[in-house]
Amino acid sequence: MRKIDLTNFHLATSETARQINRRIALNFVRRYQPLSRADLARRSGLQRSTVSAIIDQLIDEGWVTEGAVGHAPRGRRPRSLHLNVERTGILGVELRPETTTIGLADVEARFLGQVSFPTASSPERFAVDLAEATVELRREHPTVLCEGMGVSLPGRVDDTGRLVFAPNLGWGPVQFTQMIERAVSLPVNVENAANACALAELWFGRHPEHVRHIVAVTVSEGIGVGLLLNGQLVHGAGSMAGEFGHVSLDEAGPPCRCGRRGCWERYASNSAAVQHYAATGGGGAQGLRVEEVARLADAGDAAAIATIDRMARHLATGLANLATGLAPDVIAIVGEVTGFWHRVGPVVDRIMAERLLPQAATRVIATDPAAQPRLRGAVTLVVQQHFGAPMVA
Ligand SMILES: [Zn+2]
Repeated sequence: MRKIDLTNFHLATSETARQINRRIALNFVRRYQPLSRADLARRSGLQRSTVSAIIDQLIDEGWVTEGAVGHAPRGRRPRSLHLNVERTGILGVELRPETTTIGLADVEARFLGQVSFPTASSPERFAVDLAEATVELRREHPTVLCEGMGVSLPGRVDDTGRLVFAPNLGWGPVQFTQMIERAVSLPVNVENAANACALAELWFGRHPEHVRHIVAVTVSEGIGVGLLLNGQLVHGAGSMAGEFGHVSLDEAGPPCRCGRRGCWERYASNSAAVQHYAATGGGGAQGLRVEEVARLADAGDAAAIATIDRMARHLATGLANLATGLAPDVIAIVGEVTGFWHRVGPVVDRIMAERLLPQAATRVIATDPAAQPRLRGAVTLVVQQHFGAPMVA
């Protein structure tokens, strides 16, 4: 149950029940396609006549197609319902400190094209660059109708669209969402990258339907944590929930960009690993990437082996704390670290086995970098607008 928020509620209208049933039917088609009207009625428990009215409307609106003949042993052959994946183009933007990627996807988050450009040092310049890249990408796909844009970024945007926290971008508090909407002339949804990854795991991860508690951990310059509990993102007061990367483990530890010391990300992020390698005999940290340290570890470099092992232990300790405190079904790891999971994964499994309560059922999975989880997360921000449950009361 949810307590009704008397500052933000939706009255039921004569349309409410129809809207809810329509979304349920649309999601059955998405999940079990191809299926017939009869299958849909059987699976959902909706009356055949209700199913027909809803499906006719979804076909009219272009969300569903009914075509290919199904297999029936005899008699009337049922026609199959499919999601019309080409109906809507969605622009996803993965904003990272060095590079921004914009991709055009269908509603199944399959990319039709993408382009990258260097991320500008100011949000104003970034908006101009993004608008140019958007025009370029849309020109290459003139038949695709774009309905919206999702942006994932290493930072936080509050309820009003203002950028409130982005230490790894170094941008001040601008009205970010509105700035991007003006630049690209589309509705825009902005979300923290880790939150967007958690959402993508809910909508596109290969999990059983009952999975509703997902934590995403993005390991890059820093560490981001996206919390999706009870099937919904947790934003917290001021949209600041999930900053486990800045939970201090040692007040006398190394300084952090947030201005304090000993934060989790100062031990378990890519940059922490690179700095540790440089300080323990591996030469200069300038320009060195964590993937190279992992490669040196595979080649037998003792300092590199120790560095990756240290990163893995610190990552695992934090993951064990998240699993114990939040009891998610899944913790999804995103970032370069998944490319050397053969080194990190066994350490994570060992430490989780040692530290978790016997009742804990959390699985840790490394996401596939080829699936571009941050970019897919940005697309999911728009997908959920079309397929998510309508807000009731
Ligand atoms: Zn910090």
